[in-house]
Amino acid sequence: MNCLFCNIAKGEKKAEIVYENDKVIAFKDIHPKAPVHLLIVPKKHIPSLFHLEIKDKTLMGELILVAQKIAKEKNLKGYRLKINVGRPAGQIIDHLHLHLLAK
Ligand code: AMP
Ligand code: ZN
Repeated sequence: MNCLFCNIAKGEKKAEIVYENDKVIAFKDIHPKAPVHLLIVPKKHIPSLFHLEIKDKTLMGELILVAQKIAKEKNLKGYRLKINVGRPAGQIIDHLHLHLLAK
């Protein structure tokens, strides 16, 4: 399986990384749709929210807490978190990710 976000998580593909821990990586979206546009990604390959399992619930919470931490560090006064689920909703990368968008 050749997955772009797995490759970024493994350091095999370059990205502008803004945060990383053992389970989560966050980097700048290559085609930003807002002045701040980051992607928050679990290092574990989960293709989409369709595929999330009960055992992933802590990991899902961590993604949101990483978003909060980055937003705090950037002193954002407000932000949006977005998950596209499936092609009809605009998901183009088949590795679960949270968009963090802010002005
Ligand atoms: P989605 O449409 O929810 O699947 O979002 C995928 C996002 O990944 C899009 O906003 C793309 O601009 C972004 N993207 C694609 N390739 C890269 C890359 N190499 N580095 C960073 N972001 C990327
Ligand atoms: Zn992947």
